[in-house]
Amino acid sequence: MKKLKDTVYMLESGRFVNMYAIVHGKSAVIIDTGTPGKANDILDELSAIRVKPCDIEAVIITHAHPDHAGSSGALLARLYAKLYIHEGDLGVLLGKEPFPKPHYLLEKLSVFVTTHVWKYKPPAEAVALDESSLIPGFPGLKIIHTPGHTPGCLSVLDPESGTLFCGDALNNRSDKLTGPLKYFTGDMDQAWRSIEKISALPFNTLCPGHGNSIPEGAQQKVKDLLTGNRQKPK
Ligand SMILES: [Zn+2]
Repeated sequence: MKKLKDTVYMLESGRFVNMYAIVHGKSAVIIDTGTPGKANDILDELSAIRVKPCDIEAVIITHAHPDHAGSSGALLARLYAKLYIHEGDLGVLLGKEPFPKPHYLLEKLSVFVTTHVWKYKPPAEAVALDESSLIPGFPGLKIIHTPGHTPGCLSVLDPESGTLFCGDALNNRSDKLTGPLKYFTGDMDQAWRSIEKISALPFNTLCPGHGNSIPEGAQQKVKDLLTGNRQKPK
């Protein structure tokens, strides 16, 4: 467990995908659950900062890709909390709609890994969010719809700590801030419009789904990324 701010933690058992917790006193909200098989690790990490399973108020999934939602079902079985996801990704999360048809070889490979290696099992239920939704115990959090990577991709803005959790709307692999990986993104034009939307939000710290967090000056970095993208030859 890595403390990023007084109330913001990054869980370290996710390896290549990030999971976060916002902790107020003993109450916590979890953002993303990593690949399948992480539920025990998540609870162990939280118990190290004295957050018990009954203190977890909500689990928010930034989007239905199984590297972010993989342990949501197993985790939910051990909590009183509910699972929340944007309405645009709810059907895929619950396994009621198929993953969007894989276009690229990499994407086809990831569907194979998800199904046959990770043996991903969807959670039994989840609550659909939109931008007016409030998270129990954390009424200050704002849900921002940032589609493109997936139709229901969401970001979570925590105004109190000035932190934005953006899932895969932005990547910071190798400490290089970029848009989402095009091989795994349904609509790149929409993804860039979501990055425009993100650039207007009030935040200082960015917590992406992959790569290190950006502790300071993150909003300006997003604006610089947009400027660079506009100048790229199309
Ligand atoms: Zn993703």
